[in-house]
Amino acid sequence: MAATKFVLAFAICRLIVTVGFTVVPVELLRLGIEGRLSVETSDVEKASADFGMLTRAVPLAVMEPGSAEDVARLVEAAYESAQGFTVSARGHGHSINGQAQARKGVVVEMSSRKRMMRVWEKGRYVDVWGGELWIDVLKATLEYGLAPKSWTDYLYLSVGGTLSNAGISGQTFNHGPQMSNVYELDVVTGKGELLTCSEERNTELFHAVLGGLGQFGIITRARVALEPAPHRVRWIRVLYSNFSAFTKDQEFLISLHEKPSKERFDYVEGFVIVDEGLINNWRSSFFSPSNPVKIESLKSDEGVLYCLEITKNYQHEDADIIDQEIEAMLEELDFIPKTVFTTDLPYVDFLDRVHRAEVKMRSKGLWEVPHPWLNLFVPRSRIADFDKGVFRGILGNKTSGPILVYPMNKNKWDQRSSVVTPEEEVFYLVAFLRSAVDRQALRMLSDQNRQILSFCRDASIEVKQYLPHYATQEEWRDHFGDKWARFSHLKALYDPRRILASGQRIFKPLTAATSDM
Ligand code: FAD
Repeated sequence: MAATKFVLAFAICRLIVTVGFTVVPVELLRLGIEGRLSVETSDVEKASADFGMLTRAVPLAVMEPGSAEDVARLVEAAYESAQGFTVSARGHGHSINGQAQARKGVVVEMSSRKRMMRVWEKGRYVDVWGGELWIDVLKATLEYGLAPKSWTDYLYLSVGGTLSNAGISGQTFNHGPQMSNVYELDVVTGKGELLTCSEERNTELFHAVLGGLGQFGIITRARVALEPAPHRVRWIRVLYSNFSAFTKDQEFLISLHEKPSKERFDYVEGFVIVDEGLINNWRSSFFSPSNPVKIESLKSDEGVLYCLEITKNYQHEDADIIDQEIEAMLEELDFIPKTVFTTDLPYVDFLDRVHRAEVKMRSKGLWEVPHPWLNLFVPRSRIADFDKGVFRGILGNKTSGPILVYPMNKNKWDQRSSVVTPEEEVFYLVAFLRSAVDRQALRMLSDQNRQILSFCRDASIEVKQYLPHYATQEEWRDHFGDKWARFSHLKALYDPRRILASGQRIFKPLTAATSDM
């Protein structure tokens, strides 16, 4: 302990000399934590960046917590410090616009260590550390033949990070987002209190934190709902040249959410194909070069195709009836004849599909590049206008990444959570997941994002950003609409000094050393 304090004292003195901060270190030095507090260049560098590679903010120090109590001690010290300093939880740093950064504050590396997970077989839930990655949750629960119900497309994201946004994928129409599939949370508030919250206890905090963009507390434990894990997945893609046939089928498929499992698919997504190069986009390689149908020959006048992506989960013992069930369901759909592409794989391989693409992209140096992503929730009634103005308008044939389009049922989203979605019962996710290989591409794609947002404004399409990013508080007020008053009231209650998640740039911290807004 004495040696650790000495090393830390030395490191902090070096920092004072190098950077000139004199405010924070005293409190940090007195913390007495189980974990590790670091001012090493490599740790600070890592915490200054994220997947987006668009924003950089250098923290004063980085903490790898040994326990929830460590997190509580740190936040309490920040809250009580005369000058104050900001604290941001960082999951896996997969934000786009610096949301997990803390300029001149402390970044808590929540995913720095693997933790014990406790699976409660009878209750069908698992208790996990807030920084656990979903891939590890999957591996641990599969040992009991169980798995979480609702997913993201990519599993190298942290539990706390996705619950702070929502956590969506093709299962959302059926189970709701990931945040609708948790029973209980442990949360460190902005005052440094460690509270358990659920539907029954500290209810207001529970709902505020879900989709709360890290504003009200740091999630240190989540109790996640489980179901029996399917053994295999039949993964199907079919093509459309007509947008209204495509969305009509998607909406039909998600309307079956109350039906018995054998009468509906388990996952419904879709994507836009504006150029053939993207058909095997980074989310997965699927279509083989020996496609029975030449994709080019199917293109409509505007050169845009739409791909519906659906899956059916099954157990080994049902292998001989699965074909019939799928056949019957496909008959209801109106895709281009003979464009059914099918593959069959273990459940875990389906869920972890994006990671395989990541490995390939990394090997070509195409993963660690800037990602000017734009994710929008578009109301169902305006999705055709969006198609015309954006997919067949603004985009041209320049996209530089997958464009996902799929609908969700609002009744699966708890309206008491902090997330905002469009008013309508059905809304679409439209996700532009682009990579910019050089400065010119970055400029072009960022311009395109601006054009898409202006188009929506001018055409009065009331979109809501998912993984939102705004420059001013006025825009945030607009984003939250009716929920703003409650959101800012709860902020004052649970994080009165506005210490937490300042990288979201929603509230200006009441500290001397921070200038995130
Ligand atoms: P970070 O980026 O580290 O943090 C995000 C925000 O949450 C920050 O404000 C941070 O302070 C806060 N935070 C982090 N941990 C905690 C905690 N324990 N308690 C409280 N606040 C916390 N999203 C989907 O919904 N569906 C997808 O299919 C999907 N696919 C993706 C694929 C890729 C390749 C990438 C890069 C991202 C994808 N995302 C998807 C987005 C993802 O949900 C966000 O990046 C999200 O922020 C989670 O990433 P993270 O765990 O690294 O969190």
